[in-house]
Amino acid sequence: MRSTLTWLDHYPAEVAPTYAYPKQNLAQFLLDTSQKFPDRPALYFMGKTINYVNLLEACYRFANGLTGLGLKKGDRVAIMLPNIPQTVIAFYGTLLAGGIVVNTNPLYMEGELRHQLNDSGSKFMVTLDLLLPRIRKVKSSTPLQHVIVTSIKDYLPFPKNVLYGLKQRKEGNVVKLTEEDHAHVFTEFVNKASGSPILSKVNAVEDTAVLQYTGGTTGVAKGVMLTHYNLVANTLQTSHWNYNAEEGKERFLGAIPIFHVFGLTVLMSQSVLIGGMLILVPKFEIEQVLKTIDKMKPTVFPGAPTMYIGLINHKDINKYDLSSIQVCISGSAPLPLEVQERFEEITGGKLIEGYGLTEASPVTHANNIWGKRKIGKIGIPFPDTEARVVDSNTGTEVATGEIGEIIIRGPQIMKGYWNRPEESSMVLRNGWLYTGDLATQDEDGFFAIVDRKKDLIIASGFNIYPREIEEVLYEHPYVKDACAVGVPDQYRGETVKAFIVLKDNAPDVTEAELEAWCREHLAAFKVPRKFEFRETLPKTIVGKVLRRKLLEEESTKTIQQ
Ligand code: AMP
Repeated sequence: MRSTLTWLDHYPAEVAPTYAYPKQNLAQFLLDTSQKFPDRPALYFMGKTINYVNLLEACYRFANGLTGLGLKKGDRVAIMLPNIPQTVIAFYGTLLAGGIVVNTNPLYMEGELRHQLNDSGSKFMVTLDLLLPRIRKVKSSTPLQHVIVTSIKDYLPFPKNVLYGLKQRKEGNVVKLTEEDHAHVFTEFVNKASGSPILSKVNAVEDTAVLQYTGGTTGVAKGVMLTHYNLVANTLQTSHWNYNAEEGKERFLGAIPIFHVFGLTVLMSQSVLIGGMLILVPKFEIEQVLKTIDKMKPTVFPGAPTMYIGLINHKDINKYDLSSIQVCISGSAPLPLEVQERFEEITGGKLIEGYGLTEASPVTHANNIWGKRKIGKIGIPFPDTEARVVDSNTGTEVATGEIGEIIIRGPQIMKGYWNRPEESSMVLRNGWLYTGDLATQDEDGFFAIVDRKKDLIIASGFNIYPREIEEVLYEHPYVKDACAVGVPDQYRGETVKAFIVLKDNAPDVTEAELEAWCREHLAAFKVPRKFEFRETLPKTIVGKVLRRKLLEEESTKTIQQ
């Protein structure tokens, strides 16, 4: 028997059953909030704030500037920036002008960057001076026509009395623009343009607002088309979930990058929707983040498990006052239980596990914020979101407690992959998104992620879920980080290898001790046969372990042997 509970059974009565998500430009939230809370600080960055009216004016200027350069509706604008005010201005400016934002990771190297610019057909780009050398190398082999360049401190202090351009900067380390760059200096570009209101009319359900690139299963980055409607819906769903938040009062700690879909929706868009103050942190440095929390008193802190792990393990954690934090939503990867408990103990706030993926704008599940939650589970579907656990081949639902692929239907599900109809139809079937994640659903309607379909290890015909092994390793008192992968084995087909990072204060721990630990807690066939100790594990920008990288390293080793 499967559970017949739906999301409706889990929400309190004051959360209305069905939301008619407005069919509007995503930037409309900024317009509405600027009217409601004109003087409220919208952004905080390095000791300065910018209020909502001034932010909106800067966005209008940016939008008019783009139109002046010839931007037409649907043109792509690549934004390759860390969390700085210019990122928010470029984001909303592009949407106001009718462009499509292409979020670009500033860590992309030439090959990745070239692929993304060509695949998306971006003619416009906004970036940092420090990244110019990389842009110069790829520019001639991409459709790029206009590059708008800024530097981290370029927009300080904020508008009007601002605006010194790159050329005037005194500090060293500045990359000078040359004639061949045909580049525009961000501050001059914004200053010269008109500040008159501009709002492109969009067909919210059809028109893509953001192209969000994701690796996907094939390894070639694909652009996920998120429409205005998708993002408006997921922002509202997030704020319905977080319904205790007070309009015009909240402060969001902006530690996850805005160029990541989690940062885009749960952080920036939600903050703008409810008139929050977004505290921008350009780089996640633990000490800096602790100081920022102590000083700026954020109330909401969306993050990834690795961020919370980093914070609770910091030696001086007790020196800082973290008691302002009320709600943290953790996503992107499994949240270890110890981390959740310790973090809540330190802050007094709630750290809630959620789940999502780029193709779903991104959030689809979370534990209840108002009480009922289950440790180690991703929770229940968001409002207006249907989720099922099915047999991947037939699409039929499996019984309660059985493992199957999680599929999702709701207003936040992407339109498809940009220019890839075949891949789109593989994952979007009859309106359902096939996530590629293996999950279970219990009798209370709570979901748990078992693993990614593609990460499954098959040893002697047995299915082994790496996550289960990692959880056991995390419970070891001296293990800080762990990742289990399948490596080729002559007899078993595959066998388990565990990569381990030990805690800073750990004594010498041997392979044999870890193996014995695993034997105590796992069936014999799941016990790793190989261990490798590392200083760190390779991770994505939001702290997800780059399993693929570890596997690649393994296969190179096998070839060399
Ligand atoms: P991305 O599209 O890069 O954001 O990655 C989405 C993937 O992250 C999902 O398909 C899951 O495999 C994984 N993921 C996200 N949240 C969780 C979670 N709470 N627990 C386990 N895996 C997660």
